Amino acid sequence: MYTGGERQTERSRGWERAGARESMLVLTVSHTVVEHYRNLWNFVRVLHEKEEDGTSICNPTTCPKMSAGKNHSYTWLNRNHEPVELPAYEYMTLMQRWMSGKMDDPALFPTDPDTVSFAIHPEYTSNAAQQGGDEWLGARSGFPKQLGGTCQLIFRQIFRVYAHLYWDHFVEPFYHLNLEKQLNSCFSHFILTATTLEMLQPSELEPMQYLIDLWAADGTFPPESRPYSYANVERGRYIQSLGTAV
Ligand SMILES: [Zn+2]
Repeated sequence: MYTGGERQTERSRGWERAGARESMLVLTVSHTVVEHYRNLWNFVRVLHEKEEDGTSICNPTTCPKMSAGKNHSYTWLNRNHEPVELPAYEYMTLMQRWMSGKMDDPALFPTDPDTVSFAIHPEYTSNAAQQGGDEWLGARSGFPKQLGGTCQLIFRQIFRVYAHLYWDHFVEPFYHLNLEKQLNSCFSHFILTATTLEMLQPSELEPMQYLIDLWAADGTFPPESRPYSYANVERGRYIQSLGTAV
């Protein structure tokens, strides 16, 4: 027999499960952000290291803008919230300061290494960042309202830095230092995570679209993955054939 009391218990168990699932999602997203940030900055450090003559590989002369190829450049918002163009070096330095300020704020950024799994499960991830009104990522678990939006901004900024690394610095220094496999591994993992968690939209991927197409074609992104669904696999196969022809 099913009494009202049992129904109530069932319902509260359901809420508990939903709350626990949401907590896991919040912790997964925030941990993932930190993990990708650390990976990325290992590469940026290589660009920012000073040579004997006091210059760095990425400097205002080599990279006067925060660019990703000829067709894309990114602006920084100044104190008056006006977009300004900055040399890539300066942009990345300011971005690093902004990101680490967010991540070092325990009130904003919940990270508990003992309870977090890095596994991404599709059922945890629908509309992770897009919830609005009184429902936001982490609301039921008491996480701050701005967390989802902040994570999305951080993912977007990480993408911009990767795009700059690929377009302007892939050969020098990463290929010459034999770091290109590591770069590819970190970036493909980042794209997989960012798209699965809906932290990056397909339109934002455009500067790196050809690489995403290639990775869909060569199996880096499996057919059931989200970045695969954003890729032009036919074009990826063509790009792949150019690579094997030389
Ligand atoms: Zn640069």
